Formats: sequence, C-alpha cells, structure tokens
Amino acid sequence: MTTPMLTVEGLRKTFSAGTGRAEDGVHAIDDVSFDVQPGELLTLLGPSGCGKSTTLRAIAGLEHPDSGRISIGDRTVFHADSGTRLGPDERGLSMVFQSYAIWPHMNVFDNVAFPLQVVPRRQRRPRQEIRDRVERVLRTVELGGLGSRPATKLSGGQQQRLALARALVTDPDLLLLDEPLSNLDAKLRESMRLELKRIQRSLGVTSIYVTHDQGEALALSSRIAVMDKGRIMQLGTPREIYEAPTCEFVAQFIGTSNVLPATVGAVEGDLAELSTEVGPISSRSWSDLTVGQDVLVIIRPEDISLRSPDGEGAAHWRGKVVAGAYLGEAIDYVVTVDGRELRCRSGPSESGRIDTEVDLDIDPSRVHVLRSEGASR
Ligand code: ADP
Ligand code: MG
Repeated sequence: MTTPMLTVEGLRKTFSAGTGRAEDGVHAIDDVSFDVQPGELLTLLGPSGCGKSTTLRAIAGLEHPDSGRISIGDRTVFHADSGTRLGPDERGLSMVFQSYAIWPHMNVFDNVAFPLQVVPRRQRRPRQEIRDRVERVLRTVELGGLGSRPATKLSGGQQQRLALARALVTDPDLLLLDEPLSNLDAKLRESMRLELKRIQRSLGVTSIYVTHDQGEALALSSRIAVMDKGRIMQLGTPREIYEAPTCEFVAQFIGTSNVLPATVGAVEGDLAELSTEVGPISSRSWSDLTVGQDVLVIIRPEDISLRSPDGEGAAHWRGKVVAGAYLGEAIDYVVTVDGRELRCRSGPSESGRIDTEVDLDIDPSRVHVLRSEGASR
C-alpha cells in the first residue's frame, strides 16, 4: 500500500453561534477521517452547510480545527495535540474557488505566472523556465496561444480554466477545488466537468473536490464522501454510493430513490422476502437480515419497469399512473400503489398513459435493503 497523499484523522471544528453559550456552537466538522491516494479525485458531497468548505479550508490551512490531524504525504501539516500548524503556503497545495478571482488588470500569461513570480527572489525559477511552464499549463487547459489576451476578455469557461491553470502551474501535491463550476451555466458546467476530469487524469494530480451537485460528483470522482451535518455518512466509489447506499440519507441524497419501510418475512439462500405497505417484494441485495426485522427497501426509479396489466407473468405490484414527464431519453412516471406514490423511469418507447393501470416489475437483485435505524455508524 502506498502512502496516501492526504490523511485526515478525527477532525472536529465547532464555530461559536455568537450566543456566548458553548452548547449553541455549530459542529461544522464532527469527527471526520478519510484519506486520498495519489492521483485520486475525492469529492466531498453534501447539502449546503454540511461542512464541506470547512473541511477543505482546514486541509488548506485557512481554518484551524479544534482537534485531529492532517498529513500531506508523510508530513504532518496540522496536529491539534502537538500544536503543529503549517501555514497555507507551506503545505504544497493549490486551491480553486467558486469565485475564481482572476486578476483583471493582468493578461492571461501574467495571471498564470503570478504564483511563480511572487516567491522570494532566491527561490524564484529562471525567467525562461517560468515561461515554459506557463505555456505548458496553458496548453493543458486549452488556452494555448491566448497568453497576451487581457484576462477579462475570456469567456466564463475560459476564465475558469485560467483559474485552474494558475492553480496547476506550481505543480502542487494536492489540488483543492471548492464548487469551482457553480458560477457557470448548466451547459458549460457539464462540458467543464468532462474537461476537468481529463486534465486531472492527464496530470495525475491528487485532488479534493467540493460540490453539492451529485451529478458532478458521480461524473468526476474516483471516490465520493457523502457528508451530512459535519459527518461523513458514506465513502465509496460513485457506483457504490449510487447502487449500494448504506443509509437512508445517502439513498435520498444521491439521485431519486423510492424508500419503503418493510419487514423481513423469510430468508432463503440469497433471497429475502419482505413485506411492505404496498405488497410483498423480494431482494437479493442485502446482508445480515433476520426474520421479523424492520428494514428499509430502496428502489431506484429506473429499476421499476412498467407494463400493461394484461401482459404475461406475475407482476410485483399493480398501480395507477398519475403523472408522466417525457425527458427525451426516458420518461419519468409517478405511479400510486395502494395510495403510496412511487417514482418509475422507463425508456422513451414504453408508455403508461395517465390514469391507466400498470403492472410494476422489479428485479430482486436491484432491490436494496437497509437496516431501519438507517445510520451507517
Ligand atoms: P458547506 O461548504 O458544506 O456549505 P460550511 O463548511 O461552509 O458548509 O459550513 C458548515 C457549517 O459551519 C454551517 O452551519 C456554517 O454556517 C458554519 N460556519 C462555517 N464557517 C463559519 C464561521 N466562520 N463562523 C460561524 N459559523 C460558520
Ligand atoms: Mg461551501
């Protein structure tokens, strides 16, 4: 096992609420631990206020946690107990923010060269080397040949790539990105997402990415840490997080899920029979279930297929289509089964007309079961 590029252990940070009472404090980070392997892009994903930026700022050295330890490579850069607190410029990292402050009075080249120019004269690299580096990184972000253009004359997407170039020019051990795409419009955000991934991969720069946008996190990340109220609820690959959420919060936060309370009726081999308020269902995707146990059943809309009731085979449930939305590549339906609304998604060629009855088929291997108490820890 290689040494992680970043290790975060037992980080806590409480902000005072300004009431003078300690118990009113906000637990912005509440015992957060994770590590990031060289070349990985790890995303901190969660709703606004869950502690993503505070965690990132603590890694950057812009915030001092109350307890815990942070190491970059084999260097401890923060340790509450021993009082180790390296400054932001001693940590070998670069940061890109949502408000990517480019310098409007400088051209593109000077914006990128700036971090190399501001170091003390004796540590500064020779002029030619600076030029070569800046030009190389501008080519990487596809701004090659635009060096002499005033920075303000770039489009939004180009300005974001400029900010990225400026962060990369120092060849950081760690690249920290805090919602870097949220100021861009939807279309540009999607193309920049792919662009960012290409650049990060090609340079192999270890990165921590903060976002509240699950689509962005799924598209970009090697692994995702889903956060809620200052805690990591689940950490895993995008596929693990999406297909095997370990708690209700993650199941609800990532994509759309149908979550139904259920009781385990029987367990036979790898198949569990469960009863829910809308009827029985089987699952092959579970672990450690006992008969009589209360659980939550999680089913993704795309794993429920609709067909007309006169078709062959025994359906799981019969319901009634109450709404449908054509999305081009798919159709989203709301189907009520025994008064409970389920979200279903089908291919664009299938059709369930509003107010008609449909049978719902659900593959047991796509029915995910969680222990009812929900919490993953
Ligand atoms: P996120 O980036 O996930 O939206 P933050 O890390 O910015 O969340 O904030 C986490 C919590 O800490 C929030 O409740 C926020 O209001 C609080 N917080 C952050 N910074 C400060 C601060 N400087 N003073 C007081 N409370 C803060
Ligand atoms: Mg934030």
